[in-house]
Amino acid sequence: MAANKKVLMLPGDGIGVEVMSEVRRLIDWMDKRRSVTFDVTEDLVGGAAYEAHGEAISDKTMDVAINSDAVLFGAVGGPQWDNVGYDVRPEAGLLRLRKDMDLFANLRPAICFDALADASSLKRELVAGLDILIVRELTGGVYFGEPRGIETLADGQRRGVNTQVYTTEEIRRVCRVAFDLAEKRGNRVCSVEKNNVMESGVLWREEATWVGENEYPDADLSHMLADNCAMQLVRTPKQFDVIVTDNLFGDMLSDVASMLTGSLGMLPSASLGPADESGRRRAMYEPVHGSAPDIAGQGKANPLAMIQSYAMMLRYSFDMGEDADLVEQAVRNVLDSGKRTGDIMQDGMELLSCEQMGQAVTAELDKLAA
Ligand code: NAD
Repeated sequence: MAANKKVLMLPGDGIGVEVMSEVRRLIDWMDKRRSVTFDVTEDLVGGAAYEAHGEAISDKTMDVAINSDAVLFGAVGGPQWDNVGYDVRPEAGLLRLRKDMDLFANLRPAICFDALADASSLKRELVAGLDILIVRELTGGVYFGEPRGIETLADGQRRGVNTQVYTTEEIRRVCRVAFDLAEKRGNRVCSVEKNNVMESGVLWREEATWVGENEYPDADLSHMLADNCAMQLVRTPKQFDVIVTDNLFGDMLSDVASMLTGSLGMLPSASLGPADESGRRRAMYEPVHGSAPDIAGQGKANPLAMIQSYAMMLRYSFDMGEDADLVEQAVRNVLDSGKRTGDIMQDGMELLSCEQMGQAVTAELDKLAA
């Protein structure tokens, strides 16, 4: 029996609850079939926590999150909380988790399953087999830099100010995450900034180069301007392996990359914090999608983004690459066999509910592990 792995499960609101149930099914499968035991605690976040405690995440839950090996997060939000205060609205729970766990590296894979290549906005041959990873700096840069605000000038005009600011260590630590991940893939890192017009971009390029040359001499490091990267992502996306970039550019580029692959219901993500002395990183895994109030409670949600987020947890928090591969292969097989939820439905395919899709994945796992 493998050592216990402490996992905090936060399903949240809307379809977050439905897709998390399908991860629970996988955890039970692993428990029985692969002799891997997770020590799972479940708690409230978002609107569900607001209803119970009047805040989007309690201090007690935050404590558990910080002391877990990994947090699995569903989704938060819904129209019923549109008018609650800014500090206690559902999204505040997510922001607090990111901040208090110091989750500075956001990982967004863009993987295009062959079976879904026709759903992409690009031609099949450009995206079939696509497998790239965008590492976005998440806790610094222009979204947090000071000074910021809107001021009124002497002549009556108003001026809005935000500040792009990065330190050596903020750049180096996120680049290290990108290089570490690249080592497990094609060992190619493309660092993206705008050093042609921004001093923070000059520093970013210098520090990325320093980390590459001094700590990862075997990696293939290249540099690209952010505007060119946006263009290259829609021109020849398969040229990339790992892209590392700042908070603002990463926000845009990861959305561009994700749309190459089809539906929101297919997109997983991970956010990693600093490593402690034992090498353990705080980490949170979540689908990119929200709580989808329009389909919540109807069994229509696609659980595959959540299931792939779970696979990322196996790979990055528990070094269980083989098991992660197994889950991802099961997802691929289910899609190849023509099974679809509504969001990725195509002519002639078989329409499944959220629960049936989860069952289909575990049925494939049964076959693969037989
Ligand atoms: P959304 O991602 O919830 O939904 C966008 C559209 O995609 C909807 O039509 C929805 O039905 C569809 N969709 C999303 N995920 C799907 C899935 N797994 N399967 C099938 N279809 C899926 O975004 P939204 O509608 O802009 O926001 C709804 C709520 O979610 C808001 O309260 C918003 O604040 C919140 N939100 C939360 C997160 C998060 O928790 N990380 C992220 C985004 C939005």
